[in-house]
Amino acid sequence: MLNREELKEIAKWHSDKEYYVSLYLNVDPVTNPKGDYTIHFKNILRDTSEQMDKAVFKRVKKDLDKIESFIIGSKKNFKKGLAIISSLEKSFWKEYHLAVPVKNRLVVEKTPNIEPLLDILDNYQRYAVLLVDKESARLFLLHLGEIEEYGEIHTPGIPGRHKRGGWFSLSGHRFERHIDYHVSLHLKDVMKRLESFLSEEKIERIVIGGSEDAVSKVKAMIPKTLGEKIIGTFHTEMLANTNEILEKLKPVIEGFEMKKHKETIAELLTRAMKRENAVVGIENVLSAIQEGKVMRLLFVKDFSDSGYACRNCRYLSKQKISSCPYCKGDVEEVNYLVDLASQRAVESGAVIEVVAKNKDLSDAGGIGAFLRF
Ligand SMILES: [Zn+2]
Repeated sequence: MLNREELKEIAKWHSDKEYYVSLYLNVDPVTNPKGDYTIHFKNILRDTSEQMDKAVFKRVKKDLDKIESFIIGSKKNFKKGLAIISSLEKSFWKEYHLAVPVKNRLVVEKTPNIEPLLDILDNYQRYAVLLVDKESARLFLLHLGEIEEYGEIHTPGIPGRHKRGGWFSLSGHRFERHIDYHVSLHLKDVMKRLESFLSEEKIERIVIGGSEDAVSKVKAMIPKTLGEKIIGTFHTEMLANTNEILEKLKPVIEGFEMKKHKETIAELLTRAMKRENAVVGIENVLSAIQEGKVMRLLFVKDFSDSGYACRNCRYLSKQKISSCPYCKGDVEEVNYLVDLASQRAVESGAVIEVVAKNKDLSDAGGIGAFLRF
């Protein structure tokens, strides 16, 4: 999974001598039903190779071949976007499978091209998830529907009731006090760790899980600056696996995002009505995309539409047209208009937001966009 620390490391890998090949490719199975991305890849490969200095091309030829056989080789279970950074001269290969579309591009430079990955981190909300009990804690990162564990925290020196016989000689009261002391030390450790994780990764949202008792202890002692970032809590076993945790998290995240989207969509509808750099409805959205104006595209999850696409310049239309009004190219009927629209919007730098459920947006045509101008 994408994370800022890793990208920071990759960014340091620039060199005076060796070259890096960075590829971004939209591989969405919906918009590439017949694996058309292989054709798109071959096209950008040809264009980039033609423009490249011959000596440089010779040096990265093996990287390009390796990437080509990766993409064309066996049938892959691709997500929406694929990013590969390769430098065989440096024995470096990194691939990212992304749940959002990317703008197709192939770059050969002495530094790995990571800007599009940083944009994804900035533009799509990430959540830190803390699972905590009296003597340990686990830290996770949730991004674009995926979860990954980032580490465990054990505070040394906490006596377990059954682990160290010595503590049983303490009287009950003193024993409890001692435990409380250690629990608070442990939670202080956890807070410190959480705080540095948030600042390393620039994360603004926290979800806290564990037993009821642990969650309320954490909430009671969490510093105000961190406490303001908590968007919800959940209850689960400390040893739960990531899938179980993800299941518990889903309603928390969905509830939070639905609330956020409600505010955003209210603003979208008001601005669209006043014609203040916002539009709703598929036809308005398509013309804004054509003009390269879309900054943020929103649509409800189950919204789909069919229409027409120019085979040549990829102009999209809801209305039946016999040839493209822009380039006179041939037009074909398409069933996945929204996915094609998302891809084109991404190419002009837009952020895509899928809204789980929102009646107001559904009533307004299911799709809308904030515009740059
Ligand atoms: Zn056209």
